[in-house]
Amino acid sequence: MNETHDCPICSSEVAHWERYPNQVCRRCQSKTSDAYGRRLRFSNTDPSGGLCAVYLDSGEAYLRQICYIDGRKCFVSEHRFGGIVVEVVRD
Ligand SMILES: [Zn+2]
Repeated sequence: MNETHDCPICSSEVAHWERYPNQVCRRCQSKTSDAYGRRLRFSNTDPSGGLCAVYLDSGEAYLRQICYIDGRKCFVSEHRFGGIVVEVVRD
């Protein structure tokens, strides 16, 4: 149950969920930005789930689930057990 895979961005170890094979590590997850490099923060809207995102600088809502980490396109979704999951999009 303690499987890991390499973070697709920085290669550090990430707890592996079969459902989320391209999940990035927590450190990369904290570096999400939009296509123009503006930092974003994704979180659950309440403890039971729901996904919301805001711009760190203005607090303005960000309404897409696509984000970028170090120029890599990623998709953010709600983890089925709570929290959020950021996965690299493989073209
Ligand atoms: Zn990483």
